[in-house]
Amino acid sequence: MAAAVVAMHEAGDEATNYQLAACPTATQLVARRAAFEIMSAPLLTARGNLNREYLRRPWPRYFLVTSSAGHLHSSTHCSTCRPTTAFGWWVELSGRTEAQAISELGKLADALCSRCFPTAPVAPKRTNVRQSDVERLSSGPALRD
Ligand SMILES: [Zn+2]
Repeated sequence: MAAAVVAMHEAGDEATNYQLAACPTATQLVARRAAFEIMSAPLLTARGNLNREYLRRPWPRYFLVTSSAGHLHSSTHCSTCRPTTAFGWWVELSGRTEAQAISELGKLADALCSRCFPTAPVAPKRTNVRQSDVERLSSGPALRD
């Protein structure tokens, strides 16, 4: 791959040269990482405090996969997910029982992970929750249409 990029660069490929010029240097990447670590420290502390409270008195939580079309899991440690899976926390559903979530999600309950939520309906066709669904369902007093 790298040899192909070098060959295209040497051949004067305009798109390749533009991409190479836009690549940050190692020094720039190290500086960005340092800035990110400084900015994220308060968030990591706050997350640690919240996770300690959860461990002290657990409650049902719902995590939406954001790195692909959304399935809902009860934690970010579901065995069906990968280390690279990104999650959003659907706080409006926090505290709901599984039965309440199934009822309130309506048709979108098909997106509940059957490993995390054993009583969730299993759809013949995979259902995913999109960000627009989250915004729509989270905006009203009831989650369901
Ligand atoms: Zn799961």
